[in-house]
Amino acid sequence: MKKIQIPRGTQDILPGTVELWQYVESKARDLCRRFNYQEIRTPLFESTELFQRGVGETTDIVEKEMYSVANPRSTDALTLRPEGTAGAVRSYVENKMYGSPNQPTKLYYLGPMFRHERPQAGRYRQFVQFGVEAIGSSDPAIDAEVIGLAIRLYQELGLTGLSVELNSVGTLEDRARHREVLLAHLNAVRSELCEDCQSRIDRNPLRVLDCKNEKCRTLTKDAPSILDYLSEETAAHFEAVKGYLDALEIPYYVNPRLVRGLDYYTQTAFEIKMAEIGAVETLCGGGRYNGLVAELGGDDMPGIGFALSIERLLLALEKKGIQLPTETGIDCYLVVQTPEAKRTAFVLADQLRQAGVSAEIDYLDRKMKAQLKQADRLEARFTAIIGEAELANGTVVVKEMATGEQEEVKQSELVAALVAKRG
Ligand code: ATP
Ligand code: MG
Repeated sequence: MKKIQIPRGTQDILPGTVELWQYVESKARDLCRRFNYQEIRTPLFESTELFQRGVGETTDIVEKEMYSVANPRSTDALTLRPEGTAGAVRSYVENKMYGSPNQPTKLYYLGPMFRHERPQAGRYRQFVQFGVEAIGSSDPAIDAEVIGLAIRLYQELGLTGLSVELNSVGTLEDRARHREVLLAHLNAVRSELCEDCQSRIDRNPLRVLDCKNEKCRTLTKDAPSILDYLSEETAAHFEAVKGYLDALEIPYYVNPRLVRGLDYYTQTAFEIKMAEIGAVETLCGGGRYNGLVAELGGDDMPGIGFALSIERLLLALEKKGIQLPTETGIDCYLVVQTPEAKRTAFVLADQLRQAGVSAEIDYLDRKMKAQLKQADRLEARFTAIIGEAELANGTVVVKEMATGEQEEVKQSELVAALVAKRG
């Protein structure tokens, strides 16, 4: 029979690698606990309209990356979530989280996202994003807290020297003032821009500045900067964010061309980058989205968040040669000399497991020597050997593999002995 292969752009995360994922995920969760962000789990699919409205019609995501399907016996379409903010904000509105006394609402999510992209290193069609959202506060301190949370995660995993690129894309009013001069500039070079840019000029001219195409970048390098069109209030907010980042000693540099791909961003926009990562250097992206809650039917509530993928984080660690301190190995492998001892070992293994000690026995009728070899392969800290003599007098020989030290204990005392030795 023909073998069936994994879909393009997806990956199996196998034992041996999954420990890295678990380590990073538990770090992220613990960091959120310390920063007081609570987990939210939303569906892996939502109505397509949520992303059209919440992510924006002029984004790469909505224009070309969504996996959508018809909803059987229904007129609406469903889409596998390409990002986490729209679902989190939908849920915030739907569950009236603004009514809770705990404000601002601070949420995080950790789970798979789906985008139809051209797969390459660090770019998959299913990938796992960790993201946070803080909804209900316009305080510039929370902008810096959100950026800081991402930076602390990378730092605690050993990734230092990352750069934070920072910009303010202004409010809708700021952008309206900027739009006219920007359009005049863009229209002058319109016919030379790439197809995407040409189609976006009128709908969202700021996005043209974010185009990755070299030619478009050159053509627009003298385009008027949004930073020159910020109102006094927006400019003050931006200055305050920078001040708080300075206070946290988080270095950043202002990139006036930085425009996040998503339509709903206002004011603060940021990306965290690593120079050495190659073609895909962006590890994390985020920003303020003061228009989004209202866009999704809620009251006018400000929000800010970021998203980063675990895939790119692990790629960055690999490029820097950083090894995570994941734990491997089991506590105890039970070795039996004769089949008669099997039942005893089987029951002892169960008792150890109930006491919190990881234990394994042989299920392949291996000879004693092969069982000891298997214990080595499993990196067992201890072996518990039941030979013929031990079986006869109800004991077991416990051996610490690292030191070779061994001790004979009663079978009924094995659990207590191992719990004590394990520390
Ligand atoms: P890019 O410009 O690389 O396509 P993006 O703007 O589409 O990024 P966001 O939607 O802001 O990315 O997602 C936030 C983060 O999620 C990115 O910075 C990146 O770390 C990660 N990410 C985005 N798309 C993918 C993907 N297809 N595979 C793996 N990680 C991804
Ligand atoms: Mg993208």
